Amino acid sequence: MSAPSPILTGLACRCPRCGRGRLFRGVLTLNETCPACGADLKSADSGDGPAVFIIMILGAIVAPLAIWLEFAFEPPIWVHILIWPVIVGGGAIGLLRPAKGILVALQFHHQAAEHRNE
Ligand SMILES: [Zn+2]
Repeated sequence: MSAPSPILTGLACRCPRCGRGRLFRGVLTLNETCPACGADLKSADSGDGPAVFIIMILGAIVAPLAIWLEFAFEPPIWVHILIWPVIVGGGAIGLLRPAKGILVALQFHHQAAEHRNE
């Protein structure tokens, strides 16, 4: 059996080895091992890596939108205070799971791990 696609299993937040077990045990907390096949997921943990991509992507979307909103409609400041934290917060949580899933699956697939002096 060939390994499932790291992109597809990552987007589905499933185990990169079997494609069935859940990758996360919380919102963003990684399972240490796959509940379905026992694969070691902790060694492929991407840490804060995906956050960098999400900051860049959300920043590139939200900053021009905020500028456009300001110049197009000149709303009171409370409109910005209400809208952008919701969009940034929701977008960050919504995008972080699949981004972390893809990075963990790619690290698992390519057997990337931290350097160890052994
Ligand atoms: Zn598995």
